[in-house]
Amino acid sequence: MKCPECGSLNDKVIESRPSSDGSSIRRRRECLDCGARFTSYEKVEEKTLMVQKKDKSYEPFDLSKLERGIRICTDKRHLEPDVIDRLVHNIEDAIVKKAGSKRIITSSAIGEEALKEIYRVDKVAYVRFASVYKSFSDLQQFIQEIEQIAKTVDGSYPPFESAEENR
Ligand SMILES: [Zn+2]
Repeated sequence: MKCPECGSLNDKVIESRPSSDGSSIRRRRECLDCGARFTSYEKVEEKTLMVQKKDKSYEPFDLSKLERGIRICTDKRHLEPDVIDRLVHNIEDAIVKKAGSKRIITSSAIGEEALKEIYRVDKVAYVRFASVYKSFSDLQQFIQEIEQIAKTVDGSYPPFESAEENR
């Protein structure tokens, strides 16, 4: 490590200590040329989560976009802000888990994970989200979706064939 005082590259590590959550290691170093002491941090480089879109192009995952979608579909549902925050958080967790170590997920898988979590929280918000995600084009599709939900007595998911299977 380059000494911030004299620019020398000769140093020794005096002390190494992991941060309390284990996400970084702090090293206390001493320059062998001028004796200056300085600190360096070592962290795992997190790969950006990438979304593969329908046209096969990629874009970085954008949590604010997902949050916006959730706010729209839960509008006027009188859900506690906590409940909405938790919902967004749970969807994000599910997405990260599904993306795995490659940190890649398809946009349709994001939609499926979101639908699953929204379904647990609010059925109306679910139908709203589904209508956009599945691009309902007529009233009949709404009715079908709602009928499927009504048939699902125990509220288990999915109430219908997943969009994945329909393709
Ligand atoms: Zn130095």
